[in-house]
Amino acid sequence: MQTGALSIDLAAIRRNWRALARLGPGAETGAVVKADAYGLGAAEVGPALAREGARSFFVAHAAEGAALRRALGPGPRILTLTGHLEGDAPLLREAGLVPLLSTPGQVARHFAALPGHPFGLQLDTGMNRMGIGPDDWRAVAMQALPRGPVLITSHLASSDRPGDPMNAAQLALFRELTAGTGVPRSLAATGGILLGADYAFDLTRPGVGLYGGLPFAAAEPVLHLALPVLQVRDLAPGETVGYDATFTVTRPSRIATVAGGYADGLPRALAGRLTLWHGDRPCPAVGRVSMDLITVDVTDLPGVPDALDAIGPHQGIDALAASAGTIGYEILTALGRRYRRSYTGQA
Ligand SMILES: *Cc1c(COP(=O)(O)O)cnc(C)c1O
Repeated sequence: MQTGALSIDLAAIRRNWRALARLGPGAETGAVVKADAYGLGAAEVGPALAREGARSFFVAHAAEGAALRRALGPGPRILTLTGHLEGDAPLLREAGLVPLLSTPGQVARHFAALPGHPFGLQLDTGMNRMGIGPDDWRAVAMQALPRGPVLITSHLASSDRPGDPMNAAQLALFRELTAGTGVPRSLAATGGILLGADYAFDLTRPGVGLYGGLPFAAAEPVLHLALPVLQVRDLAPGETVGYDATFTVTRPSRIATVAGGYADGLPRALAGRLTLWHGDRPCPAVGRVSMDLITVDVTDLPGVPDALDAIGPHQGIDALAASAGTIGYEILTALGRRYRRSYTGQA
């Protein structure tokens, strides 16, 4: 065992999708698989969710959509959240992708480059990030609605905070802008699904909840990450560990060096805050997190372990994220390319 072993439970992802579908009754449940399914592998996650019944998949970019099309085959609908960017037309056409047009310029580009090709529209209802704003909507609607958009979407800025009045304000504006269009609508990502049935509309777009992350607190964990022990040293009080000698041993100590570091998505900011686990026993990481290696105090373990868990039953992605001062999304999407990956729970 040389590099970390990352195990991805496709059955848990499928159960999370089912659980989110039950929370949005009456709506179709899509799946957001942008950024390679949040780092977990769109070529594996996409087909697993398609077999479970997902029919609409969201990616960020056309190139991601084309790769997903190869994995999914011709059936499912694939929509691009960045819309129709300059140069996207060949990929959109060849891979049969549906762009969510997000500016008046994209609308013009799409009708010029791919007349008759299916499209959706993305509205900005207050996040001020991506989408056609209320000011432009009247003119765009007159031009675009007669051409039959397949979906109108918007995105909530604060859905991870149920009490935030921004949620209701965005909901009201979305309703107002889309009333009477007769076009299927989608507003809710994971957080929006949890806000209740008012937010579900015709199609939901869960991402992080599928992968076991907050704000879906009831999600099943999906990942296990074990870092192999490469070396063990017994140190005397006064000796130091790692770059800049930031950790000084104060008792006779056994320090294990595990394979895994910031190049593997374990942030350097974890130094001094990271715990690895051997079964049920916590082992504090000591010293700096370096590019490929982390040093861990295993003095209190009965023997020398083969590997220590960075993600597992005692430490999920959000706990690890909290230790690093970030969010589960960032831990997921940063997961290293060097891990030996294995998938369980294939249908
Ligand atoms: C990323 C994204 C989603 C999925 O969000 P989660 O919080 O991961 O469920 C849905 N819609 C849009 C527009 C997004 O950018």
